Amino acid sequence: MNDAAIAGLFDLINEKGIGEAVKRVSDEEAIRLTEEYGTHNYHPLHVNIVRGDGIYAYDGSGTEYIDCIGSYSAVAHGHLNEAVSNVVRKQLDKITLTSRAVYTSEMALLLQGLCEYTEMDMACPMNTGAEAVETAIKLARKWAYTIKGVPTNRAEIIVANENFHGRTTTIVGFSSEAQYKEGFGPFTPGFKMVDFGDTAALEAAITPNTAAVIMEPIQAEGGIIFPPGGYMAAARGLCTMNNLMLIWDEIQTGFCRTGKRFAWQYEDAKPDMMCLGKALGGGLYPVSAVVGARKVMSVFVPGDHGSTFGGNPLASVIALAAMAEMESKDYAGRSAAMGARLLEGLGALPHSSIEDVRGRGLLVGIEVREGVDTKALTQGFLNERILTKETRSRTFRYAPPLIISESQIDEIVARTSRALDAVS
Ligand SMILES: *Cc1c(COP(=O)(O)O)cnc(C)c1O
Repeated sequence: MNDAAIAGLFDLINEKGIGEAVKRVSDEEAIRLTEEYGTHNYHPLHVNIVRGDGIYAYDGSGTEYIDCIGSYSAVAHGHLNEAVSNVVRKQLDKITLTSRAVYTSEMALLLQGLCEYTEMDMACPMNTGAEAVETAIKLARKWAYTIKGVPTNRAEIIVANENFHGRTTTIVGFSSEAQYKEGFGPFTPGFKMVDFGDTAALEAAITPNTAAVIMEPIQAEGGIIFPPGGYMAAARGLCTMNNLMLIWDEIQTGFCRTGKRFAWQYEDAKPDMMCLGKALGGGLYPVSAVVGARKVMSVFVPGDHGSTFGGNPLASVIALAAMAEMESKDYAGRSAAMGARLLEGLGALPHSSIEDVRGRGLLVGIEVREGVDTKALTQGFLNERILTKETRSRTFRYAPPLIISESQIDEIVARTSRALDAVS
């Protein structure tokens, strides 16, 4: 962009305001500018969203979509949730960012709230999910060296095939997805991969140097993949027996998404640490955290870890409001009930293009048969005004806001049926 063009934009903003400048960007112009000035690390749907309200998102022409992506489960509270938004408005009159060089009352309550909500001892607030995973890795390694007695730099962490834990270089280094890694090496050593759901493989991978097992309770990005029943409990048992840290990455499955506060509760497989993010931000701000048992969380000493924005006062009140709202409105119960209705509705669709429908709570996927034109189907969903995208394995994800109603669930099922009709 040349100086004149830059001056033009900021002149416009300073004269008319950002709201007016944004209003002047048409849907097509937004797409053009994004592709011209942004790196091409995403391939978005050809839709420009200008407004949200509950489960709905609207483009510039006013077309109303049901948001079944829900920002990959981050918009659990619905767009512009009133309780969360009101807390932000009030906090904007007080203080928003201080850094961790001082204490704040807001973060103090966030830490208490996180520990009460998760029934854990201590918490470490961060911003993005990937940062929470990185934090858990550092905690597990330091615990292994200082408490368990693993020789320096020999700690091993066991991960699952087809995992998704974020996009930092360390995290993509232990991904099994070629595209996540290709061109980005060399990678951090110290990770061992086992097949997800295979208890014997997990047991065989454990050595005296193993520090931790990090897994998602349900592999959401991998295609809504469930381990066999009993796997979470078995992993808990193996970690206890071998003195390892069990770390569940509940960034996507946590906070009522699967019909309980956390997915590990289905098997009472309480972890030593848990990674949290996405819905913790109330649908409007990145807030993540690691929560865990004192024996491991207490290995951090001043200077070991940090984040400029982590646990800032604005983030803290948002996360507190997000958790309070989930409790007062029984999001877990809603997610379980509405998820069962969605699963039943989608499961009853007679279309031959469907290979499988699976889910728990409001984390549901439709896997289509090999050979189905998934590009055409994505467009079919858009034509029916449903926002959904494929995960890795021909599985279209439904993770709508947890505030969804029965009639809205039925509407999703009806629209899905018509979208599938259009490609068969
Ligand atoms: C989204 C996600 C992450 C990464 O979160 P970011 O906020 O995008 O860094 C990590 N783990 C799981 C299971 C996720 O779904």
